[in-house]
Amino acid sequence: MGTETETALGEGAAASEGGSRTGARVTRRQVLKYGLAGAAGVLAGGYLTQRLFRSAALESTATVLKGNAPAGELWEAWKKRGWAREARHYLKVGSNVLCKLCPNDCLLQPNDRGRCRNRVNKEGKLYTLVYGNPCTFHPDPVEKKPLYCSVENPSSGKA
Ligand code: SF4
Repeated sequence: MGTETETALGEGAAASEGGSRTGARVTRRQVLKYGLAGAAGVLAGGYLTQRLFRSAALESTATVLKGNAPAGELWEAWKKRGWAREARHYLKVGSNVLCKLCPNDCLLQPNDRGRCRNRVNKEGKLYTLVYGNPCTFHPDPVEKKPLYCSVENPSSGKA
């Protein structure tokens, strides 16, 4: 390829040392080829990342349960039992609410239910429907638990 224009890296150093021309050679064609491939990769990565975040945001709003909040007698019974309470960690956006409890960031219009099905927008306030309810129940005796590890060891001499 004697006619091909070449850029020799280290050629000057090799020549000045009087040594052989063993430096890494990169042709202009290779620079263009790998440079364009790298630029295309960066653009494709950015585009895919943007698509991923956009589809995640759309999915978050799409999976909110529209108009699914309990109403009437059911809502009153829920409140009477103390299970429905105004929730924490949310923002009011007019009559809508933006729940900030988990990464789903549900934006709820009045009477919508969140993706978790536990939080509802009633009259511009976010309510949890599970206040005071256990999330798990286990009939194991407490003696089976590894409490030895959780209490301070009196023989260690520490107060
Ligand atoms: S806690 Fe429920 S309502 Fe709140 S953002 Fe998460 S899924 Fe949505």
